[in-house]
Amino acid sequence: MKKIIAIDIDEVLVPYVNVFCDYINKYKLVKNEVSPNNFKTYNFSKDLGCDEKKTNYLIDKFQHSYEFKNYQSPLNGSQKVLKNLKNKYKLVIVTSRHLNIKTQTKKMIKKHFGDIFDEFYFGNEHGLTGQKKTKGDMCKDANVDLLVDDRIKYCKEVLKDNKKTILFGYYAWNKSDTNLKRAKNWGELQKIIEEILQ
Ligand SMILES: [Mg+2]
Repeated sequence: MKKIIAIDIDEVLVPYVNVFCDYINKYKLVKNEVSPNNFKTYNFSKDLGCDEKKTNYLIDKFQHSYEFKNYQSPLNGSQKVLKNLKNKYKLVIVTSRHLNIKTQTKKMIKKHFGDIFDEFYFGNEHGLTGQKKTKGDMCKDANVDLLVDDRIKYCKEVLKDNKKTILFGYYAWNKSDTNLKRAKNWGELQKIIEEILQ
């Protein structure tokens, strides 16, 4: 039976914070210019210095914008490496994204990656309505062997269930970790997956 790899969407398949910052700056939605370097925690309220209400408003506005729908394009190497991995593994999406952007998210993934993913799991982490699921629970539901994610906390959560994880990228919010297995880009990721899932 093929081993199952769970792939996160934001910051692994497509950039989020970069596009978000450009949007916020373009429309001057906060007082000072923001940059991805501000996102030291990936807690947007903390990193932007806005209260929860304003933060939720900004995220919601962004996620319904033209920019969000059109300027998220795949990270370098992701399409080619996934095509290679697909020959050997089952690939599933495990994301914390809200349920209210499920349809547009699936459309975006199909546009850039075709039908490479067999299943989709949405955590709805900050959704205002609907059921929420943790990354750990989604990885259990999908019975995955490995999670690729840019967030330290999600990797640690899934490691506790004796599953393997790879911390993806070298970002302001994850560069402090030196213990987790890390792949800085898609080229490195393919090699590391082959090593740890053989
Ligand atoms: Mg992510």
